Amino acid sequence: TILVTGASGQLGHLVVDSLLARGANPAEIVAGARTVEKADDIAAQGVRVVALDYSDSASLVAAFDGVDKVVLVSSSAVGQRVAQHQAVIDAAVAAGVSLFVYTSLLGGPDSPLPLAAEHVETEKAIAGSGLPAVILRNSWYIENYAADLERARETGTLVASAGDGRVSSATRAEYADAAAAVVLSDGHAGAIYELGGDVAWSYAELAQAMSEIIGREVVYTAISTADHVAALEAAGLDEGTAGFVAALDAGIAAGALVAPDHTLSQLIGRPTASLVESLRA
Ligand code: NDP
Repeated sequence: TILVTGASGQLGHLVVDSLLARGANPAEIVAGARTVEKADDIAAQGVRVVALDYSDSASLVAAFDGVDKVVLVSSSAVGQRVAQHQAVIDAAVAAGVSLFVYTSLLGGPDSPLPLAAEHVETEKAIAGSGLPAVILRNSWYIENYAADLERARETGTLVASAGDGRVSSATRAEYADAAAAVVLSDGHAGAIYELGGDVAWSYAELAQAMSEIIGREVVYTAISTADHVAALEAAGLDEGTAGFVAALDAGIAAGALVAPDHTLSQLIGRPTASLVESLRA
Protein backbone atom coordinates (compact mmCIF):
# COMPACT_ATOMS: atom_id res chain seq x y z
CA THR A 1 0.00 0.00 0.00
CA ILE A 2 1.22 3.47 -0.97
CA LEU A 3 0.43 6.46 1.25
CA VAL A 4 0.45 9.91 -0.38
CA THR A 5 0.46 12.86 2.01
CA GLY A 6 -0.88 16.30 1.11
CA ALA A 7 -3.45 14.58 -1.06
CA SER A 8 -5.85 17.44 -0.37
CA GLY A 9 -3.37 19.75 -2.11
CA GLN A 10 -2.54 20.18 -5.75
CA LEU A 11 0.62 18.09 -6.11
CA GLY A 12 -0.68 15.32 -3.85
CA HIS A 13 -3.87 15.11 -5.92
CA LEU A 14 -1.80 14.74 -9.06
CA VAL A 15 0.41 12.05 -7.50
CA VAL A 16 -2.71 9.99 -6.79
CA ASP A 17 -3.94 10.63 -10.35
CA SER A 18 -0.60 9.48 -11.77
CA LEU A 19 -0.50 6.35 -9.60
CA LEU A 20 -3.92 5.41 -10.96
CA ALA A 21 -2.96 6.32 -14.53
CA ARG A 22 0.13 4.13 -14.19
CA GLY A 23 -2.06 1.20 -13.27
CA ALA A 24 -1.92 1.13 -9.49
CA ASN A 25 -4.89 -0.55 -7.90
CA PRO A 26 -7.02 2.09 -6.11
CA ALA A 27 -7.23 -0.33 -3.17
CA GLU A 28 -3.43 -0.13 -2.82
CA ILE A 29 -3.40 3.66 -2.43
CA VAL A 30 -4.11 5.65 0.71
CA ALA A 31 -4.63 9.39 0.28
CA GLY A 32 -3.63 11.32 3.40
CA ALA A 33 -5.45 14.62 3.62
CA ARG A 34 -5.60 17.23 6.36
CA THR A 35 -8.78 18.69 4.85
CA VAL A 36 -10.53 15.45 4.01
CA GLU A 37 -13.36 17.11 2.02
CA LYS A 38 -10.79 18.44 -0.44
CA ALA A 39 -10.10 14.81 -1.41
CA ASP A 40 -13.71 13.80 -2.12
CA ASP A 41 -12.92 13.44 -5.81
CA ILE A 42 -10.12 11.03 -4.90
CA ALA A 43 -12.45 8.96 -2.74
CA ALA A 44 -14.87 8.85 -5.66
CA GLN A 45 -12.19 6.98 -7.62
CA GLY A 46 -12.16 4.20 -5.05
CA VAL A 47 -9.09 5.40 -3.16
CA ARG A 48 -9.26 5.36 0.64
CA VAL A 49 -8.90 8.87 2.04
CA VAL A 50 -7.60 9.16 5.60
CA ALA A 51 -7.32 12.18 7.87
CA LEU A 52 -3.64 13.03 8.16
CA ASP A 53 -2.42 16.11 9.99
CA TYR A 54 1.34 16.37 10.47
CA SER A 55 0.82 17.93 13.88
CA ASP A 56 -1.50 15.15 15.08
CA SER A 57 0.60 12.06 15.76
CA ALA A 58 -2.44 9.83 16.31
CA SER A 59 -3.60 10.66 12.79
CA LEU A 60 -0.16 9.70 11.47
CA VAL A 61 -0.11 6.36 13.27
CA ALA A 62 -3.58 5.57 11.89
CA ALA A 63 -2.70 6.71 8.37
CA PHE A 64 0.41 4.50 8.27
CA ASP A 65 -1.48 1.36 9.24
CA GLY A 66 -0.58 -1.29 6.65
CA VAL A 67 1.46 1.15 4.56
CA ASP A 68 4.52 -0.10 2.69
CA LYS A 69 5.64 2.98 0.74
CA VAL A 70 5.04 6.68 1.31
CA VAL A 71 5.25 9.85 -0.77
CA LEU A 72 5.72 12.81 1.57
CA VAL A 73 4.65 15.89 -0.36
CA SER A 74 6.49 18.70 1.40
CA SER A 75 4.17 20.76 3.57
CA SER A 76 2.98 24.24 2.64
CA ALA A 77 3.40 25.50 6.21
CA VAL A 78 6.71 27.30 5.65
CA GLY A 79 8.50 27.71 8.97
CA GLN A 80 6.90 24.64 10.55
CA ARG A 81 7.98 22.10 8.00
CA VAL A 82 10.97 20.53 9.71
CA ALA A 83 8.91 19.40 12.71
CA GLN A 84 5.99 18.37 10.49
CA HIS A 85 8.17 16.30 8.19
CA GLN A 86 10.02 14.78 11.16
CA ALA A 87 6.69 13.53 12.49
CA VAL A 88 6.05 11.78 9.18
CA ILE A 89 9.54 10.26 9.16
CA ASP A 90 9.04 8.97 12.70
CA ALA A 91 5.71 7.41 11.76
CA ALA A 92 7.28 5.82 8.67
CA VAL A 93 10.08 4.33 10.78
CA ALA A 94 7.56 2.96 13.26
CA ALA A 95 5.58 1.43 10.40
CA GLY A 96 8.74 -0.04 8.85
CA VAL A 97 8.07 1.28 5.34
CA SER A 98 10.19 -0.07 2.50
CA LEU A 99 10.41 3.22 0.57
CA PHE A 100 10.18 6.88 1.62
CA VAL A 101 9.84 9.41 -1.20
CA TYR A 102 10.16 13.14 -0.43
CA THR A 103 9.61 16.18 -2.66
CA SER A 104 12.52 18.54 -1.98
CA LEU A 105 13.98 21.58 -3.72
CA LEU A 106 16.42 21.62 -6.62
CA GLY A 107 20.02 21.81 -5.49
CA GLY A 108 19.38 20.74 -1.91
CA PRO A 109 22.20 22.07 0.29
CA ASP A 110 23.69 23.97 -2.68
CA SER A 111 20.54 26.02 -3.22
CA PRO A 112 20.81 29.72 -2.29
CA LEU A 113 17.02 30.03 -2.14
CA PRO A 114 15.54 31.02 1.22
CA LEU A 115 13.17 28.05 0.93
CA ALA A 116 15.99 25.51 0.89
CA ALA A 117 16.85 25.28 4.60
CA GLU A 118 13.77 23.33 5.64
CA HIS A 119 14.20 20.90 2.74
CA VAL A 120 17.85 20.36 3.63
CA GLU A 121 16.95 19.67 7.27
CA THR A 122 14.27 17.23 6.11
CA GLU A 123 16.69 15.44 3.78
CA LYS A 124 19.14 15.09 6.68
CA ALA A 125 16.41 13.68 8.92
CA ILE A 126 15.44 11.17 6.25
CA ALA A 127 19.07 10.10 5.80
CA GLY A 128 19.41 9.81 9.57
CA SER A 129 16.32 7.64 9.83
CA GLY A 130 17.92 4.85 7.83
CA LEU A 131 14.79 4.44 5.71
CA PRO A 132 15.29 3.43 2.07
CA ALA A 133 14.51 6.77 0.46
CA VAL A 134 14.29 8.73 -2.76
CA ILE A 135 14.70 12.51 -2.75
CA LEU A 136 12.97 14.31 -5.59
CA ARG A 137 14.53 17.78 -5.75
CA ASN A 138 12.01 19.75 -7.77
CA SER A 139 12.66 22.98 -9.63
CA TRP A 140 9.84 25.54 -10.00
CA TYR A 141 6.32 24.71 -11.03
CA ILE A 142 5.33 26.62 -14.20
CA GLU A 143 2.07 27.28 -12.36
CA ASN A 144 4.03 29.72 -10.16
CA TYR A 145 3.85 32.15 -13.09
CA ALA A 146 0.05 32.23 -13.43
CA ALA A 147 -0.20 35.57 -11.62
CA ASP A 148 2.63 37.06 -13.72
CA LEU A 149 0.78 35.96 -16.84
CA GLU A 150 -2.41 37.70 -15.69
CA ARG A 151 -0.43 40.85 -14.83
CA ALA A 152 1.25 40.78 -18.24
CA ARG A 153 -2.19 40.59 -19.83
CA GLU A 154 -3.02 43.90 -18.13
CA THR A 155 0.32 45.68 -18.28
CA GLY A 156 2.36 44.21 -21.13
CA THR A 157 5.31 43.80 -18.79
CA LEU A 158 7.01 41.09 -16.80
CA VAL A 159 8.88 42.74 -13.96
CA ALA A 160 11.45 40.70 -12.03
CA SER A 161 14.94 40.87 -10.57
CA ALA A 162 16.01 37.51 -11.93
CA GLY A 163 18.48 39.07 -14.38
CA ASP A 164 19.53 36.64 -17.09
CA GLY A 165 18.84 33.67 -14.85
CA ARG A 166 17.18 30.61 -16.32
CA VAL A 167 14.52 28.32 -14.89
CA SER A 168 13.95 24.64 -15.75
CA SER A 169 10.28 24.75 -14.85
CA ALA A 170 7.94 21.82 -15.28
CA THR A 171 4.26 21.32 -14.60
CA ARG A 172 3.03 20.05 -11.26
CA ALA A 173 1.62 17.09 -13.16
CA GLU A 174 5.08 16.21 -14.48
CA TYR A 175 6.69 16.29 -11.02
CA ALA A 176 3.76 14.28 -9.68
CA ASP A 177 4.18 11.69 -12.42
CA ALA A 178 7.87 11.34 -11.53
CA ALA A 179 6.92 10.62 -7.93
CA ALA A 180 4.42 8.00 -9.08
CA ALA A 181 6.92 6.43 -11.47
CA VAL A 182 9.55 6.18 -8.73
CA VAL A 183 7.22 4.65 -6.18
CA LEU A 184 5.85 2.10 -8.66
CA SER A 185 9.19 0.81 -9.96
CA ASP A 186 12.17 -0.79 -8.26
CA GLY A 187 15.74 0.37 -8.12
CA HIS A 188 15.37 3.97 -6.96
CA ALA A 189 16.13 3.60 -3.24
CA GLY A 190 19.05 5.81 -2.25
CA ALA A 191 18.66 8.11 -5.24
CA ILE A 192 18.64 11.89 -5.11
CA TYR A 193 17.10 13.20 -8.33
CA GLU A 194 17.44 16.82 -9.47
CA LEU A 195 14.26 17.45 -11.45
CA GLY A 196 13.19 20.15 -13.86
CA GLY A 197 11.93 20.68 -17.38
CA ASP A 198 14.06 19.75 -20.38
CA VAL A 199 14.57 23.37 -21.45
CA ALA A 200 15.80 26.09 -19.10
CA TRP A 201 14.26 29.39 -20.22
CA SER A 202 15.24 32.99 -19.47
CA TYR A 203 12.81 35.68 -18.35
CA ALA A 204 13.12 37.29 -21.78
CA GLU A 205 11.92 33.99 -23.23
CA LEU A 206 9.18 33.80 -20.60
CA ALA A 207 7.96 37.26 -21.69
CA GLN A 208 8.03 36.07 -25.30
CA ALA A 209 5.99 32.99 -24.39
CA MET A 210 3.50 35.23 -22.59
CA SER A 211 3.24 37.41 -25.71
CA GLU A 212 2.44 34.35 -27.77
CA ILE A 213 -0.25 33.22 -25.36
CA ILE A 214 -2.02 36.51 -24.73
CA GLY A 215 -1.53 38.06 -28.13
CA ARG A 216 0.07 41.30 -27.02
CA GLU A 217 3.69 42.28 -26.68
CA VAL A 218 5.12 41.51 -23.25
CA VAL A 219 8.44 43.07 -22.29
CA TYR A 220 10.71 41.73 -19.56
CA THR A 221 11.77 44.59 -17.33
CA ALA A 222 14.81 43.44 -15.36
CA ILE A 223 15.15 45.47 -12.19
CA SER A 224 17.68 45.38 -9.35
CA THR A 225 17.05 43.50 -6.12
CA ALA A 226 16.76 46.80 -4.22
CA ASP A 227 14.28 48.22 -6.73
CA HIS A 228 12.32 44.96 -6.62
CA VAL A 229 12.04 45.09 -2.83
CA ALA A 230 10.94 48.74 -3.02
CA ALA A 231 8.35 47.97 -5.72
CA LEU A 232 6.93 45.04 -3.76
CA GLU A 233 6.70 47.15 -0.61
CA ALA A 234 4.99 49.92 -2.58
CA ALA A 235 2.51 47.28 -3.76
CA GLY A 236 1.68 46.51 -0.12
CA LEU A 237 3.95 43.61 0.81
CA ASP A 238 5.61 43.75 4.21
CA GLU A 239 9.39 44.06 4.39
CA GLY A 240 9.99 40.38 5.14
CA THR A 241 7.81 39.10 2.32
CA ALA A 242 9.23 41.60 -0.16
CA GLY A 243 12.76 40.56 0.77
CA PHE A 244 11.81 36.90 0.48
CA VAL A 245 10.37 37.30 -3.02
CA ALA A 246 13.36 39.32 -4.19
CA ALA A 247 15.72 36.71 -2.71
CA LEU A 248 14.00 34.04 -4.81
CA ASP A 249 14.72 36.12 -7.92
CA ALA A 250 18.32 36.66 -6.81
CA GLY A 251 18.67 32.90 -6.50
CA ILE A 252 17.21 32.44 -9.97
CA ALA A 253 19.70 35.00 -11.31
CA ALA A 254 22.43 32.84 -9.77
CA GLY A 255 21.13 29.73 -11.55
CA ALA A 256 19.43 28.06 -8.59
CA LEU A 257 16.58 26.64 -10.65
CA VAL A 258 18.43 25.17 -13.61
CA ALA A 259 18.23 21.39 -13.61
CA PRO A 260 21.54 19.72 -14.49
CA ASP A 261 20.09 17.07 -16.82
CA HIS A 262 16.88 15.50 -18.13
CA THR A 263 16.19 13.11 -15.27
CA LEU A 264 12.56 14.30 -15.02
CA SER A 265 11.71 13.39 -18.60
CA GLN A 266 13.62 10.12 -18.21
CA LEU A 267 11.59 9.20 -15.13
CA ILE A 268 8.24 10.06 -16.70
CA GLY A 269 9.14 8.50 -20.04
CA ARG A 270 8.40 11.50 -22.23
CA PRO A 271 9.83 14.96 -22.91
CA THR A 272 8.52 17.68 -20.63
CA ALA A 273 5.98 20.11 -22.09
CA SER A 274 7.35 23.25 -23.75
CA LEU A 275 7.27 26.61 -21.99
CA VAL A 276 4.40 27.95 -24.12
CA GLU A 277 2.43 24.72 -23.88
CA SER A 278 2.79 24.43 -20.10
CA LEU A 279 2.22 28.13 -19.40
CA ARG A 280 -0.89 28.16 -21.59
CA ALA A 281 -2.38 25.24 -19.67
P1 NDP B 1 -0.70 22.98 -1.90
O1 NDP B 1 -0.74 24.20 -1.06
O2 NDP B 1 -1.74 22.79 -2.95
O3 NDP B 1 -0.74 21.69 -0.96
C1 NDP B 1 -0.06 21.64 0.25
C2 NDP B 1 -0.55 20.45 1.02
O4 NDP B 1 0.08 20.46 2.30
C3 NDP B 1 -2.06 20.48 1.27
O5 NDP B 1 -2.59 19.22 1.03
C4 NDP B 1 -2.12 20.84 2.72
O6 NDP B 1 -3.30 20.37 3.37
C5 NDP B 1 -0.92 20.12 3.23
N1 NDP B 1 -0.62 20.50 4.59
C6 NDP B 1 -0.28 21.70 5.08
N2 NDP B 1 -0.17 21.65 6.41
C7 NDP B 1 -0.48 20.38 6.76
C8 NDP B 1 -0.57 19.69 8.00
N3 NDP B 1 -0.35 20.32 9.17
N4 NDP B 1 -0.88 18.39 7.98
C9 NDP B 1 -1.11 17.74 6.82
N5 NDP B 1 -1.06 18.34 5.63
C10 NDP B 1 -0.75 19.64 5.60
O7 NDP B 1 0.76 22.93 -2.54
P2 NDP B 1 1.19 22.17 -3.89
O8 NDP B 1 0.49 20.88 -3.94
O9 NDP B 1 1.08 23.11 -4.99
O10 NDP B 1 2.72 21.94 -3.64
C11 NDP B 1 3.17 20.88 -2.81
C12 NDP B 1 4.35 21.37 -2.01
O11 NDP B 1 5.40 21.75 -2.88
C13 NDP B 1 4.07 22.61 -1.17
O12 NDP B 1 3.48 22.26 0.05
C14 NDP B 1 5.44 23.20 -1.03
O13 NDP B 1 6.19 22.55 -0.02
C15 NDP B 1 6.09 22.90 -2.36
N6 NDP B 1 5.94 23.96 -3.36
C16 NDP B 1 6.83 23.92 -4.41
C17 NDP B 1 6.77 24.86 -5.40
C18 NDP B 1 7.70 24.78 -6.55
O14 NDP B 1 7.59 25.60 -7.45
N7 NDP B 1 8.59 23.81 -6.59
C19 NDP B 1 5.78 25.95 -5.39
C20 NDP B 1 4.87 25.88 -4.27
C21 NDP B 1 4.99 24.93 -3.30
P3 NDP B 1 -4.70 21.20 3.26
O15 NDP B 1 -5.22 20.90 1.89
O16 NDP B 1 -5.53 20.66 4.33
O17 NDP B 1 -4.35 22.65 3.42
